[in-house]
Amino acid sequence: MLLVKKFGGTSVGNTDKIKNVAAKIAKEYKAGNDCIVVLSAMDQSTDELLTLAHEINMDPPTREIDALLSTGEQVSVALMCMALDALSVPSVSLNAFQVSMHSTGNHTNARLKKIDTERIRHELDGRRVVVVTGFQGVDSYNDVTTIGRGGSDTTAVALAAALHADACEIYTDVDGVYTADPRIVPNAKKLNEITYDEMLELASIGAQVLHNRSVDLAKKYGVTLVVRDSHKDVEGTFVKEVCKMESMLVSGVAADKNTCCLTLCGVPDMPGYEYRIFDLLSSNSIPVDAILHTAAVNDTIDISICVSRDCAPRAEALLKDNAANLKIKEVSVDNHVAKISIVGAGIQSNPGVATKMFEALFNSNINIKMTYTSEIRITVLIDEIDMEKAVRAIHEKLLGE
Ligand code: ADP
Ligand code: ASP
Ligand code: MG
Repeated sequence: MLLVKKFGGTSVGNTDKIKNVAAKIAKEYKAGNDCIVVLSAMDQSTDELLTLAHEINMDPPTREIDALLSTGEQVSVALMCMALDALSVPSVSLNAFQVSMHSTGNHTNARLKKIDTERIRHELDGRRVVVVTGFQGVDSYNDVTTIGRGGSDTTAVALAAALHADACEIYTDVDGVYTADPRIVPNAKKLNEITYDEMLELASIGAQVLHNRSVDLAKKYGVTLVVRDSHKDVEGTFVKEVCKMESMLVSGVAADKNTCCLTLCGVPDMPGYEYRIFDLLSSNSIPVDAILHTAAVNDTIDISICVSRDCAPRAEALLKDNAANLKIKEVSVDNHVAKISIVGAGIQSNPGVATKMFEALFNSNINIKMTYTSEIRITVLIDEIDMEKAVRAIHEKLLGE
């Protein structure tokens, strides 16, 4: 069998953990399996590298951020091969350049385009474990790129798809996908399986257990994912197209504070203004994930939008600089908000679900600033300070029994 196994930062957080993971891989190898191992940087080292960068320059060039951050994964793969060597398991570490993992050139948020499989196949044919750096790619100038925080999951799925692996296992510090982040809701329940669509929604709205693009890619190429604990030998959660179990009304609650709400007051209630505002944001590569506008009063409307916190200062500056042009009277910014979402295949056909979510918030005296929905998700924007309380209250109401 050809197995792709990805280990996250906490799973390779120190040399003992690396040795433990190496022993796990050695077992698979000695059982006759071909193994491709994808690693993240050790523990918090990506954050530490970013702190260093910002100590030197508050706005470092993104090309150099990628050059810096990609070193974190390089350390893990080299150490892992040393650990495997100590166990007499032949292995080779490969970075994105050595594999030829082609990506787009947008530094810090590049997309994997194509993976050359020859080198990996050659190493596997020589019965070596191939240990690949997660999170990175190479653009058309041969510059190293990174593919977004948490992106090693996506590297693993891309490799599993390109090499038609028999399994893609994501090893982490929890033993599966839960109905809520177990760090916030200690009695959250582990799911045995979840569909791609539900997992994609959960991952996109804050359940960082999987990088959302990894789920998207897995769905596109039909790669079944398993999320498992890297140090305990217990059943994990399967992420796949169709689930055997009865579809749950609600499969999870997630929270995300990487959001900022900008309100544009006094925009003319006439055709074209909304287009010009969003054109300005999109042409400056600022993604907007929620839009709410009020009914017109005195021929003007207020528009509230949510953008990620790292984009917020740029969005604010752009909108303020262009306020006169776009006829925006005032731009206000609320940085202390969080999004809470519930996800479930049964949401659309069961209006009672939304009622229960709102009731849970009401009972906890939590005010809703904005609500938006998709077919299988309801998201509310609330004050950041209420985030954990809201997750617990909603989880208890909808998934508590
Ligand atoms: P890794 O370093 O292995 O990539 P991450 O920190 O990215 O690990 O993801 C694992 C973490 O995701 C867990 O420690 C857990 O707190 C968090 N998490 C958030 N939502 C969920 C969820 N619904 N189910 C499981 N874990 C979750
Ligand atoms: N090391 C990178 C990060 O911390 C990628 C990853 O862990 O998946 O975001
Ligand atoms: Mg992760």
